[in-house]
Amino acid sequence: MSFPNETLNDGGDMSQYTVIMVDDEQNILYALKRCFSREKFRVICAGSGVEGLRLVAETAGVAVIVSDQRMPEMNGSEFLTRSRELAPDAIRMLLTGYSDIQTTIAAMNEGGVSHYISKPWEEFGLLQTVRDGVRQYHLIMESRRQQEIINQQNAELRSLLSRLTDQNMELERLASTDALTGLTNRRRFLEFFEKERNRTQRYGGDLSLIMFDIDHFKRVNDTWGHSAGDAVLCEIARETDLVLRVTDTAARYGGEEFVILLPETELTGALLIADRLRQLVSDTVIAQEQGILISITVSIGVAMIGPEESCDGFLNRTDQAMYLAKTNGRNRVEISNCCY
Ligand SMILES: [Mg+2]
Repeated sequence: MSFPNETLNDGGDMSQYTVIMVDDEQNILYALKRCFSREKFRVICAGSGVEGLRLVAETAGVAVIVSDQRMPEMNGSEFLTRSRELAPDAIRMLLTGYSDIQTTIAAMNEGGVSHYISKPWEEFGLLQTVRDGVRQYHLIMESRRQQEIINQQNAELRSLLSRLTDQNMELERLASTDALTGLTNRRRFLEFFEKERNRTQRYGGDLSLIMFDIDHFKRVNDTWGHSAGDAVLCEIARETDLVLRVTDTAARYGGEEFVILLPETELTGALLIADRLRQLVSDTVIAQEQGILISITVSIGVAMIGPEESCDGFLNRTDQAMYLAKTNGRNRVEISNCCY
């Protein structure tokens, strides 16, 4: 007789499993061993509960533990109950005579015993019960293995998701940022600008805009080259950052043109910030290689949004104020008082 492998489609290797049998009578152990001699799983025997516990502790893959109930020193119920700590997943079976029925019920309720086999046993029934136990254990192990694979895959998916989220945030940052200066780029600024304009016009409050342009920037590029031009742009971005308040947003609007959006700020407040920036820029000397020192200035236009004014209208008005700063001599701030 052999293990009915056709019911195990998972190809489990039964030789990895052990059945431990405990009985105080050597002839019974001998009979049990003979009965299971042709099975694929390993069968080992112990003559007492103490020896049985030692075997359970020493053996890996204990699938089924079968114990006689009536044994001196430690009876079967106690042995099986104590074996739970050592092999919690093993299927426990009690070999009992009819007179031990109350003990059997208690062992099933309290000792984790799931089967009992009546003495004297009928060989085929015993074989079948133990095989079922091994199969049950195999399924428990298999399901645990699958669960571990699922857990592992879930952990990998979580980690992948987290990496994707990070990458998306980085992509979003890159898509919103001017690569040279690190300021917000024009595209992102215009989105933000429209939101702020809508918010201000819906809920009230002030919204001001500063627009500035580096004076004679072309000369910087023509005289000292584009890397000097880039250094100037970066320095302007750094100085702009210095005058910003947490709620302000600065952006590189075009080549050498920048904007600062100032929510909840009226014209005089925006003018103060604009002039602080103008002063800061004109006071700074940008040192380049070979002792080159570059001084630059900016021309700044400032405007505050009017009721119902569109984003384009507001931008144009600020641009005109900036143009006025250019035509009025550069390195200065002009405000737009123009009607909207
Ligand atoms: Mg006995």
